[in-house]
Amino acid sequence: MSDFSDAEVEAGRRLFAGEWNFTASAGSLGSLPPMAGPEIAFAGRSNVGKSSLINALTGRRSLARTSRTPGRTQELIFFSGPGRPAGLVLVDMPGYGYAAAAKTKVADWTRLIHDFLHGRATLSRVYVLVDARHGLKPADDTILDTLGQAAVSHEIVLTKCDQVSAAELAERATAVEAAMRKRPAAFPDLIATSARTGAGIPQLRAAIARLLAERSR
Ligand code: GDP
Repeated sequence: MSDFSDAEVEAGRRLFAGEWNFTASAGSLGSLPPMAGPEIAFAGRSNVGKSSLINALTGRRSLARTSRTPGRTQELIFFSGPGRPAGLVLVDMPGYGYAAAAKTKVADWTRLIHDFLHGRATLSRVYVLVDARHGLKPADDTILDTLGQAAVSHEIVLTKCDQVSAAELAERATAVEAAMRKRPAAFPDLIATSARTGAGIPQLRAAIARLLAERSR
């Protein structure tokens, strides 16, 4: 698992401190907002804890959820942070792997994600969220394959770590890291989080701050 210095944790805190707002939603390539600041996207199976994680990162209790109305779930949702005109942008990607989803929905989802991942120069990294209780599932392979083909930097974030013992967490982390080492575009470390306890949230902010600092060098 990744390690961060106190200075990096502080840089992460500063990066996220301030006001976050919903700025746009897009259900097709044509309706994407113009590219501005660096973008960090979050993907994961439905119910993995993506909304909760985005709310924990931004310190807004219902930022991610408030923009989600039924029927809009197949959209990319954009949130912008402090530091205008080109502050950090978080992108909430539609959840996948929902068993009852119609085939046409899955096809729409796949096309939207494919188009977004292949044409977004401002996209700095995608965090793929994985439930710490379950580990990687077959549904995660589709997005991981697409990320690899598009050569988009990506990394796994374990969610709901409060639901597993320390021993289970270590075991799951080892298995996920081993699987990710086989994917060359993936960053093999992972970050273990809990939106419920706040564990790992400062580290995830620090990882994003580190990435942006590296990119601007
Ligand atoms: P999404 O569908 O991926 O956006 O997932 P949500 O953020 O809506 O969370 C799905 C469910 O998991 C909700 O019932 C949350 O309360 C729960 N959940 C989310 N994060 C955590 C966490 O860190 N710990 C625990 N125990 N439950 C969580």
